[in-house]
Amino acid sequence: MNDSAADHEDGPRTKPGLSAGAGDGTRAVRAGLPEPVKHEPTLPGPVFAAHFHLPGDPTGPYAYGRDENPTWTLLERAIGELEAPSQDGVETLVFASGMAAISSVLFSQLRAGDAVVLPSDGYQVLPLVRAQLEAYGIAVRTAPTGADAQLDELDGARLLWIESPSNPGLDVCDIRRLVEAAHARGALVAVDNTLATPLGQRPLELGADFSVASGTKQLTGHGDLLLGYVTGRDGEAMAAVRRWRKIVGAIPGPMEAWLAHRSMATLELRVDRQNASALALAETLRGRPEVTGVRYPGLPGDPSHNVASQQMRRYGCVVSFTLPTRARAERFLGALRLVDDATSFGGVRSTAERRRRWGGDAVPEGFIRLSVGAENPEDLVADVLRALEESAD
Ligand SMILES: *Cc1c(COP(=O)(O)O)cnc(C)c1O
Repeated sequence: MNDSAADHEDGPRTKPGLSAGAGDGTRAVRAGLPEPVKHEPTLPGPVFAAHFHLPGDPTGPYAYGRDENPTWTLLERAIGELEAPSQDGVETLVFASGMAAISSVLFSQLRAGDAVVLPSDGYQVLPLVRAQLEAYGIAVRTAPTGADAQLDELDGARLLWIESPSNPGLDVCDIRRLVEAAHARGALVAVDNTLATPLGQRPLELGADFSVASGTKQLTGHGDLLLGYVTGRDGEAMAAVRRWRKIVGAIPGPMEAWLAHRSMATLELRVDRQNASALALAETLRGRPEVTGVRYPGLPGDPSHNVASQQMRRYGCVVSFTLPTRARAERFLGALRLVDDATSFGGVRSTAERRRRWGGDAVPEGFIRLSVGAENPEDLVADVLRALEESAD
């Protein structure tokens, strides 16, 4: 925290003095903590309130629970400190889920007659979002994430939506390059930062206007809550996002917000363990004859690696690869003991799924998305190798 200007009357005061140059682990454990008050806890518990005492003129910060909550305030500061540690005037808003956060940006910034550029290989709910945008008279163009293909669609667009690394294909685009091209044409840029987490990539430092993410995944990391957030630098644009949250009411419960803040203290520990294990697993899988198409942005030689290494500081916990057939993939998933067959990713317990079962993603039948958890890497690699052997024809 380097911005004591944030410490005015609105809400709990933040402890000053943590420099933007502090290490990621230090910043994660201290992010968003209030100034110490004798006999008060380090991280105050969740504030359960639909309304707050409000005699006289209805002034902020806390009046009604759909608009503001002190537990959100601390979490929003924490996320802001990780997404944009050295930038002033940055605001963060938390939401009920990642989709609530994504929708708040798209539907608050776009009007009938505008054009928006979306990735064709992004999160699997984006096609539903596309249909809704089109129903409102917004023109939607799409292009894949790899090779910066969205560049060709920018003329006349109002907003560019980037997902890098993309989910589940793990392609990466050059965010700085796309931002420069979009800004030169007067378009805003939002980056879905779910997979990278703010410890892996800081979209605002790469020039983006919004960093948007699902906090359901690795940010909170325990698979026990849904959350989303938007961090942005443009006051007017963020005011519209805030208004959208109020209109739609897609707000996190205080308990979820508090659990998220508590979980973020271990973000660096989790991310470093999980990402290192993901690299080890990707290297192991690359040497297996029955496995094709191993993707991990941190793997030297991966098609994403060069660009990823220029804009990411950590490469995420998701590894994807393909087994020869659907049946083989299903047997493999059934044979795993330390990896749950479940969707989502980023949790401390490893999960994997055959992505094609959802029907949405354009991936082969045997395509597996594996999210590496916080187990010991040698146990995890051994479990995967055993499951590959046991699932052989
Ligand atoms: C999960 C996910 C979302 C949606 O987040 P929810 O919290 O499930 O609403 C959006 N983008 C990406 C990349 C995701 O993985």
